[in-house]
Amino acid sequence: MANRLLNIDNQPQIIQRLYTLIYKKTIPHAFLFGGIRGIGKYNVAKTFAMAINCFAPKPDDCGDISIDLNKYIETYPCGQCSSCLTSISGNHPDIISIHPEGTSIKIEQIRGVTETISRRPYSAKMRVVVINDCETMNVHASNALLKILEEPPDHTIFILITTQVNTLLPTVLSRCLHMAFMPIPYKQIAEKILTLLPNKATASDDALILSELANGSLEKGIELSNCQGMLDKRKRLIHDVLNLHRKPIGFILAFATTLCEEKQFLEDAFHIIRSCFRDMIIYKFAKNHIINKDLKDVIEHSGSIYTIQSLFAKLNAIHQAEKQLKSNANIKLTLESLCINLAIL
Ligand SMILES: [Zn+2]
Repeated sequence: MANRLLNIDNQPQIIQRLYTLIYKKTIPHAFLFGGIRGIGKYNVAKTFAMAINCFAPKPDDCGDISIDLNKYIETYPCGQCSSCLTSISGNHPDIISIHPEGTSIKIEQIRGVTETISRRPYSAKMRVVVINDCETMNVHASNALLKILEEPPDHTIFILITTQVNTLLPTVLSRCLHMAFMPIPYKQIAEKILTLLPNKATASDDALILSELANGSLEKGIELSNCQGMLDKRKRLIHDVLNLHRKPIGFILAFATTLCEEKQFLEDAFHIIRSCFRDMIIYKFAKNHIINKDLKDVIEHSGSIYTIQSLFAKLNAIHQAEKQLKSNANIKLTLESLCINLAIL
């Protein structure tokens, strides 16, 4: 039932591990679900919370763990018992989700959790507290959470979810069972996108390109397929970037300013630019393995005017710029410097 209920079949290894813990009755007090955005961490957390509280009768035990485990996965959560129905409606009093308020998780939110867990669960076998985007906790919130994890209460399981495992306090990390969620294979993302695209005539090729742009995130793939004109925007960006070397410095700086003004698009823009220089290198060795297959001629032509060393230098410049932006460097200066680097032959 679980797979059909919340579409969690994209993370089979994680599901196997979690259900093994249920089967063996060795569920720890705290988990850390880490991995990029949009690969099912929250859905798996919700399904797991439902599964351990589901009232469906235990499947027949036939003594073979591999067979029994599949039975557990098929049985829990049933989606029909009172516990499952309350969970699905989002009103289960013992399945608690914490999300950032504004840009961060505040200490008051963690204090609220402390108060709740001081009482026994209302109706659940195990209360589950899911903390989303826990990398946004400030140091006070992190310390308050650490205090809870140091003396975990009975009947409560914590699931911390993050896209940035390395930013969490080591003392918090050490108290959690870490589950590393893998990016979703491109093929699976493309299959999902294919069902969403309106123009069935070109959908197959478009779905492949969008799935590459999604970079392993199913959520991102779905977002891109709903974004009108994304493929045209990508073509324009690649065209502009590949022509920078012919342009005067004034144009290059103006182009950097335009990129800077489209902050929502910046992450995608970096991915598109990187994919295009990556393709120029790949094309020299394996023509069929490029990402931007619809722009094969452009990739071939532009790739022929750069040396391999120059292309690697550009990929490095893109990587460094991304790193600087993540460290809150000045966006405009970083993009200007990047565009100049991309323009140099
Ligand atoms: Zn149930």
